[in-house]
Parts: sequence; C-alpha cells; structure tokens
Amino acid sequence: MYIVPEHEIATLLTRQAAFDAVEKVFAAMASGEAYNFPVVREAIGHEDALYGFKGGFDRAGKALGLKAGGYWPNNLEKRGLINHQSTVFLFDPDTGKPHAMVGGNHLTALRTAAASSVSIRHLARGDAKVLGMVGAGHQATFQLRAALEQRAFEKVIGWNLHPEMLANLEKVAQEAGVGFEAVALEEMRAADVIITITSSFDTILMPDHVSLGTHIAAMGTDTKGKQELAPKLLARAAVFTDEVAQSVSLGEAQHAVSQGLTEAGDIREIGAVINGQVAGRTDADEITVFDGTGVGLQDLAVAAALVGLAIKKGVAIEVEI
Ligand code: NAD
Repeated sequence: MYIVPEHEIATLLTRQAAFDAVEKVFAAMASGEAYNFPVVREAIGHEDALYGFKGGFDRAGKALGLKAGGYWPNNLEKRGLINHQSTVFLFDPDTGKPHAMVGGNHLTALRTAAASSVSIRHLARGDAKVLGMVGAGHQATFQLRAALEQRAFEKVIGWNLHPEMLANLEKVAQEAGVGFEAVALEEMRAADVIITITSSFDTILMPDHVSLGTHIAAMGTDTKGKQELAPKLLARAAVFTDEVAQSVSLGEAQHAVSQGLTEAGDIREIGAVINGQVAGRTDADEITVFDGTGVGLQDLAVAAALVGLAIKKGVAIEVEI
C-alpha cells in the first residue's frame, strides 16, 4: 500500500484537481454509482474529542474507504497541533486490500472549498460581481481563494463575529487583486454570492440580509444543532445539497425541516444539476442555497486523485502490509 504524508499534500494537490474530483463524485452520487455509508461520530470522553468515520464507495471512480478523524479542541493550546485531525484510508474494491493512507487535514480544507466552488459554478448568476463572506476562520480562507476563481468577482465583502479575524480574508482578496471591505450583516445585500463558514449554533443570515438572485453556499453547518441561515430564508430559496439525507439531519436544512417549512423532497442534489437531471437556477431573481454538509465520498475522491499524483511524482511511500 501507499502512504502519502500530510506534509506532501499542499504541494501535490491543486485547487483544480480538488474541484474536478469533487464535481465528478457529486455527479456519480446523483447517478447512483456512488454512495456514502452512515456517519459515525462519537464524543470519546477523552480530551473533549469528537471522533468518527465518514466512508463510502464510488463504483465509477473505484474509490472505497473512509476518512477517520475529528476535533481535538485542546490540540493547539496544549501541543501546538491543529484541532481538526483526519486521515483517509483507501481500499482496493476488487480485493479489500488496503491501497493507501493519505493525510486528511489539508485535503479536507481543499475538498470543502471545492464543494462551495462547484455550487457557485453551477448555481450562481454568470454576472456575479460581489462575493460575500460570513466567517473568517481557518476554512474561510480556502473557501474564498477557490470561489474567486469561479466568476469575475470585483469585490469581496466580509462579516465575522470576531471582526479582528477579517484580516485573514483581506489578505486572500489582496493576493487575488480584488478589493475587500468589512461590512455589517445588512450590507450582505450587496453580494451576488455569499459563503457562510462559521461554527455558529444560531441564525446569522436573515431574509432581509440577502438580495434576490443571490447564491448562498452554506458550508458551516455539518453537525446537529449548528445553524447559519434563518429557516425562512432557506424555505424561500431553491435548495441544493451534496446529500439530501445529511442536509435534513445535520446540514443547514435540519432547522427548516424540523419547523415544517421545507421537506426532503424539496431539496435537490447538486450532482443531479451537474448531470443535467434536474434544473439548477431557473431565473436571475431566484435565491439559491447550496447546503454543503461534507460527505465521505468527497474525501475519497480527492484522496484517490492525490495518490495518483503522489505515485507519479515519486513521493508516495510504498509499504508491504
Ligand atoms: P475556525 O474555528 O477556524 O473558525 C470558526 C469561525 O466561526 C470564525 O469565523 C469564528 O469567528 C466564527 N464563529 C465562532 N462562533 C461563532 C458564533 N457563535 N456565531 C457566528 N460565528 C461564529 O473553524 P473553521 O475550520 O474555519 O470551520 C468553520 C466551520 O466549518 C466549522 O463549523 C466546521 O465544522 C465547518 N466545516 C464544514 C465542512 C463541510 O464540509 N461542510 C468542512 C470543514 C469545516
């Protein structure tokens, strides 16, 4: 089997490679060729850690395996390590033998950024000029960098609960040669595309913070109880997701569904839009929401692409097992 260490990932994996792998696996999910296994997530009663597995099988891409990992809140303070820790394991679907072990930390950041970018590619208006960012933490910089490649954005506006963190976004915008402005939530009305990527457990974006025709990539809510959008905002939008089952149980749609404002049948898979099986945006005034919950197949698809790149560049470590 091959090992691709975490420290090799940043130089091996381009945003384009992550985008292509995620777009392809979303399409495979919608055509029934790929499916995710039930997610396991446990509070292990040690170091306040949350640990779990996200796995699946993509028959089309021949990717079988899982991402194991989670959140260790004391890592940074106690050990100088990042709090999110994960590793991807791939198996040969023909034999069940292990195929690869791949560092999953940088991979997770890039595959999550790729998901919102895929949604912008397929659902945002072609003439989108202003990109709104809600959230300015670790993941936000990855989302912003990738999103800027999807449309000819002329300006980035940003809001964050902790305003001092907005400098993270300003730096990325500057590097891309795009202006940046810190704004109040009400001023998100100027945005054509909004990405939300916070760890909030309460509504942030209200219906009157969003203009007609906006595409919202809601990326922060990946656990029961988390929330970024007002359920009424979601209910009046055309809603798309990576996986409907996750969207209604642990994604942003969980709240609108539990309040009876929307139901699973109203939510479409982004992969079906990519495949042309269902319509995406149907008019310029429609508000579209992508509920990006994060599925194991994204990790497997990007890890499989990475292993190929690592073997080609001679940096994959081969071991007998
Ligand atoms: P981070 O800790 O680096 O940043 C957290 C962000 O949330 C900061 O902008 C912070 O100011 C903001 N925030 C914290 N508490 C808040 C509150 N009560 N209200 C509003 N904002 C608040 O975390 P990160 O790595 O940037 O991750 C952000 C979120 O994205 C997390 O919830 C994480 O679980 C989620 N995530 C989702 C996916 C996915 O596939 N959908 C993948 C990775 C991370």
